[in-house]
Amino acid sequence: MPGTSAIDHRAMDHLMRWFDMHQRRMPWRGESDPYRIWISEVMLQQTQVATVVPYYQKWMRRFPTIHSLAESNTESVMELWQGLGYYSRAGNLLLGARYICDQHQGHFPQTRQEALRIPGVGEYIAGAVLSIAFNYPEPAVDGNVIRVLSRLRAISESSPSRIRRAVADIVGLSYWEFEPRWVNQAWMELGALQCIPHPACTPCPFATVCMAFSTGKVAEYPLGKKKKTLPLKRGIIYIVRRDNRILMVKRPAAGLLANLWELPNVFDDDQDPSSFLERHNLTPLSVSYGTVRHAYSHFKLTCEVRAAELSGPWQSDRWVDHRWMSNTMLAAVGKPKLHIMALRKSGF
Ligand code: SF4
Repeated sequence: MPGTSAIDHRAMDHLMRWFDMHQRRMPWRGESDPYRIWISEVMLQQTQVATVVPYYQKWMRRFPTIHSLAESNTESVMELWQGLGYYSRAGNLLLGARYICDQHQGHFPQTRQEALRIPGVGEYIAGAVLSIAFNYPEPAVDGNVIRVLSRLRAISESSPSRIRRAVADIVGLSYWEFEPRWVNQAWMELGALQCIPHPACTPCPFATVCMAFSTGKVAEYPLGKKKKTLPLKRGIIYIVRRDNRILMVKRPAAGLLANLWELPNVFDDDQDPSSFLERHNLTPLSVSYGTVRHAYSHFKLTCEVRAAELSGPWQSDRWVDHRWMSNTMLAAVGKPKLHIMALRKSGF
C-alpha cells in the first residue's frame, strides 16, 4: 500500500535480521550514553563514518563528559574539529553542552520538545538521541531513511517537509515489539548500505514488497529532488612568511567558519577585490604553489596559492585578529580544510 500505513511485522522482521547481519561496527554502536550519542550524531551529519571515527575517539579522550565540554572554550573545540567541516556544528556543541549543564544539570533532556531547545539540535538529532539513548519510540529521519521509505512506499509528496513528515509517520508505525533504538538504526543502515542512490535491489530485505522496485521507478524517489549545481567561486590564498612563521588571520565569531584561523585570502566576489592587496599592505611575489579546491554545501571554491610579503603593518577590517604562527602554534588552532590544503601545498 502506498502512503503512511504501518510496515507489516514480517517485513520488519526481515529488516531486523538484515541489520543483525550487516550493521557496521562503530565506536558508538551499542552506546546508551546520550552525550556520546549526541556527539557522534552531530559529527556524522554530512560526513562519512570512516572520517568521523578518529575525530570521535580524539574528542572523547579530550572531552569525556558533557561537563568537560561545557567548561572548555571555542579555541579548543575548533582545534579538535579542524578538517571535519561545517564548523558551526562544533560551536553549537559547545553552546549545547553549556545549555544542558545550566538548564538540565548536565542530563540530556528526555522529551523532543525540550531537546529541540538545545542549540544546534533539530528534529533528526533529537530523534536519534531520544531513541538510541533512552529507547523511546521517536523517529530519527535523515536523508538515508527518507530515500528508503519514499521508495518502499512510493511516497507521492514532492515537498521535502511533507516527505519528511510522511516518512516519520511510517517509521513511528514500524516499531512493533522491536526496540526503537535498533529499529531507527536499522532504517539508517539500510539507507547507508543497501538502498543507496543506485541500488542493486535483489538482496534487499524489502525486495518483494518495495513499490518503487516493483514498478521499475527506483531512481525517481524521493520525488522533487533536484540536482544542485553549485556556483563556483575563485580566489587567491596568500602565503606570507616571516622568519620561521606564517601570517594567520582569525575569522569573526559569527558566520561561515566562525572563529577559525586562515591564511589571508581574497575572492572574486569580495566587495573590492582589486584593492585587496593595497588595503592589506600585501605585495605578491612571483611564487605560485598551485591550486586548492573544496566544496561547501552552497558553493565550490577554487583558489590559487601564492606567496606574498608585507610592505607595511598588517591591517584589515575583515579579520578580527592576526598572528605570526610557528608550526607548533599552527597545529594548535582550528583551520578550514581549504587552508590546511594550502599550507600543505606551500610546504610550511
Ligand atoms: S528494494 Fe531497492 S529501492 Fe526498494 S528499499 Fe530495497 S534497495 Fe531500496
